[in-house]
Order: sequence, then C-alpha cells, then structure tokens
Amino acid sequence: MLTYDEALQIVLETVTPRPPVLVPLASASGRVLAAAVISSRNLPTRDNSAMDGYAFAWNEQIAEHPLPVIDFVAAGHARQLAVPVGNAVKIMTGAPLPPDCDTVVPIEDIEELDGSIRLKTTTQQGDNVRYCGEELRCGELILDAGTSLFAGEIGLLAAAGIESVQVYPAPRVAILSTGDELVELGTPPVDGKIINSNAYLLASRLHEAGCEPILLGIARDTPEELESALKKGLKADLLLTTGGVSVGDCDHVQESLIKLGFTRKFWKVAIKPGKPVLFGTINDQPVFGLPGNPAATAATFELFVLPALRRLAGFPSTRPPRLRVTLTEAIKGGGKRQRFLWGRLEICNGSFCFTSAHYQGSGQNRSLQGAQALLPIAEHSPDLAAGSEVEILLLRMPPGQP
Ligand code: AMP
Ligand code: MG
Repeated sequence: MLTYDEALQIVLETVTPRPPVLVPLASASGRVLAAAVISSRNLPTRDNSAMDGYAFAWNEQIAEHPLPVIDFVAAGHARQLAVPVGNAVKIMTGAPLPPDCDTVVPIEDIEELDGSIRLKTTTQQGDNVRYCGEELRCGELILDAGTSLFAGEIGLLAAAGIESVQVYPAPRVAILSTGDELVELGTPPVDGKIINSNAYLLASRLHEAGCEPILLGIARDTPEELESALKKGLKADLLLTTGGVSVGDCDHVQESLIKLGFTRKFWKVAIKPGKPVLFGTINDQPVFGLPGNPAATAATFELFVLPALRRLAGFPSTRPPRLRVTLTEAIKGGGKRQRFLWGRLEICNGSFCFTSAHYQGSGQNRSLQGAQALLPIAEHSPDLAAGSEVEILLLRMPPGQP
C-alpha cells in the first residue's frame, strides 16, 4: 500500500493549474498572480512632503533668519510657482513639493512669528521629503508571477494604478455525497438515517480555502444513480465524492467512475483515518473518492484534496505547512499505518503547543471540533512523552490570545 508521501506526490504530479483569467483588482484577493506585474508609473508620482510642516529651499544659513510664509499647500493641490530662496510655504502631508523646495521641517520644530517661522532645530537638506519613484520606479517589477494576493499586495497594486490582473481562478469543486443512509439537513433522520453533514463540512472548508463548492446532493448506493449523479460533476475543476469507496457490498463509487472513463491513480493509502481514499482522473479532471466517515473525509480532504486545490489555484507551495510544536500530554506511538491525530494549538510561553482531541474515531464529527492541526504519527514509532517536540500539519492559525 502507498504511504501518504508517495500518494501525495502522485496527486501533485497529476494536477495542473487552471488557465489564468484577467480579473478586476477588487476580485483578485486570495488568488495567485499568473503573470508578473510591471509598474507603468513612479510611486510616489511626485516629490511630496512626509509631514505637516513647512517647505523651503535649504541652505547652510537657513536657521539664521525667520522665513516669511508665502503660501499654503494642502494634499491634492499643487503650487506651480517656485518659492524664492529665504521663504517658506506651509505644506500638509502628501502635498507635492513646490518647485525649488527640497526640504520640509515639521510643524512641531518651528516657532511661529507673525507671518514667518523660525526653525527650532537643525535641518538637513532633503529632510521629510518623499521622492518621486522612491517606492516604485516606472518599469520596475511590482509583483512576480506566483505571488499570492492578500491585502498588502492588493493595496500596493491599487496604489500603482493597476486595475486588473492575470490570476489563476478559484477552483470550482463538485461534491457528491453517496449513501442510502443519508438525508439532507432539515429532514428528520429516522430508521437509522443520518444527516449529510459531509457536504456542509466540505463546502465550509472549500469556502475557507477560497474555492467554489458545487453541491450535487445525495446519490443512493446504486451504480445507475451514482453514474447519473457523477456526470453532473464532470464540468467542475475537481470532483469529490464521499462514501462508497471501501470494500462493502454497497460501495459502488469506483465502478461508476470507471464507466465514465476514470483512470485510477491510487486506491487505499497506509493512513488512519482515511485508508480507502481513491484518486484518479476523468479526462484531465482530478477526482477524489473520500471515505464517508466524517473524520476520514476531513482528514483526506486536508491531506490530499487541499494540496490539489492549491495546485489548481496556482500556489507554488501546495503541501500542508509543517510546524514544530510541544506536546502538552503523552501520546501513544504508531501502529501498522501512519496515524493522523486531530488537535488544538495554543500559544504557551510564546510558542505553540498541541493537545490532541478527545474524540479521534473516524466516525466522530467531534474530532474536528476546534482542531487547528493534524499530528502525523509514523508507523511503529515509539510513544511520545508530554513536553516532546513534534511536527504538526498546520490547518489554520489558532484564534487570538486572551
Ligand atoms: P462509507 O464510506 O460509505 O462506508 O460510509 C461510512 C460511514 O460514513 C457511513 O456509515 C456513515 O455513517 C458515514 N457517512 C457517509 N457519508 C456521510 C455523509 N455524507 N455525511 C455524514 N456521514 C456520512
Ligand atoms: Mg456508503
């Protein structure tokens, strides 16, 4: 049976990014740039004042005489006329420096006389001036292809006048829940039925990951119903099923996929939970058959599907991020398969510590409650003592500190 690392490698070799699209900047948050962005202007566009203060042409003797204040320049207004040597203009932060002025003294550092100012501190030529192009030059690279666009990048691009960008679009992910036992939320689960909670779990996680879920509902465990429901997911960028991929008498997902042209890349990985996970393609579309038990669905989603989605979305790094943390408790060593334990991260004395979830059963929704990390435990590894350093897979950052 494949190991997790071997199986993940296959996923990452199979999946390729979606074709880029041009989007308005306001829609680019969370996306990855598909093409470099070059500046077509200087930033700042003109020399301007970094302070509320007074601008003048500097010379060695500037502090010796009072400077008559001959004008006022607010941000967004430009004085076209030069300021004669020995005079000053009052200037607000961001206002363009008038011609011939090269220095600004802050309001706090002058003494106001009647219509003039006297400098209280020594100044250097060029003090408190932001120069044209000091942040960005016309023709300079602003952001390279492969950059993730978050608030800081979006603000920078807007400041540089970039109205639209080439990005990898958000992956559209079809989700089909399978199983005779399933009912939708809102229908009472009588006679051993259970609610299709996996669809909610996956849609929620997809939203968090900046993807677009497409819910295909529930298919019963018959090859015919599965096949016709699966067909509806073939236009998405990635197709996910839950349930029906194990070896039970009612597990028909794989044979139905094969009728639709499925090429299997792997089935079953030596992990717990999530062993029966299935992966392959229909034409070039990646398809995952996730096991139905909620904690197995969620674990295989984190371990395989999210990396595939990051690849589709153009992220250069796709594997789950790893972090060294301290165990708050002793944890039993590994068995026959690599285990993944759900757990909570907290900040203890300035670094992260990990506490495993009380519930770890693959059928238990509560294992995921409050979990920010998965702790991999290698097969046949020794017990871990409280206080040991371990490496976890980071799923999300813990909430703020009290
Ligand atoms: P399966 O992988 O089809 O053998 O399903 C294993 C178990 O997972 C089922 O017996 C259900 O208890 C549970 N399960 C399957 N599908 C879902 C679902 N969509 N939502 C919640 N639990 C599910
Ligand atoms: Mg089933």
